[in-house]
Amino acid sequence: MSMVVIGVFTSEFEAQAVCHRLDAEGIAARMNRQGRYQGFTGAIAVEVDEADEAKAREILGDADEPVNMDEYVAPGDKAYRRCPVCQTANVDVAPLTEGKVWLMILTLGFSTLFLKRDCRCRKCGHTWRG
Ligand SMILES: [Zn+2]
Repeated sequence: MSMVVIGVFTSEFEAQAVCHRLDAEGIAARMNRQGRYQGFTGAIAVEVDEADEAKAREILGDADEPVNMDEYVAPGDKAYRRCPVCQTANVDVAPLTEGKVWLMILTLGFSTLFLKRDCRCRKCGHTWRG
């Protein structure tokens, strides 16, 4: 039996969420921080047994919607952005606009300390700057 990689994630958080999901379906998944996926990217691979690969892909295939952060983030955890209206951690942060990127370059990144980002709640649709 050999292990196959079914996904590579940039954060341990995401990799863990995928492992939990597979575990819930009876598939033993493990995170692999070693080998070719680690190195300079710091990426974490999620592996399952070869025999479980098809089932695992099927499960993850219908998981196209983003992870529900509320299931994994503790209510008091300040490390995550929250919607000021419904307090969910399911918040999208808008990418910087071209103008802001230039401002950042011109100020050598200093302005990122002051730039507010447009945020949007995935649950109630509330938008704000924060
Ligand atoms: Zn909200």
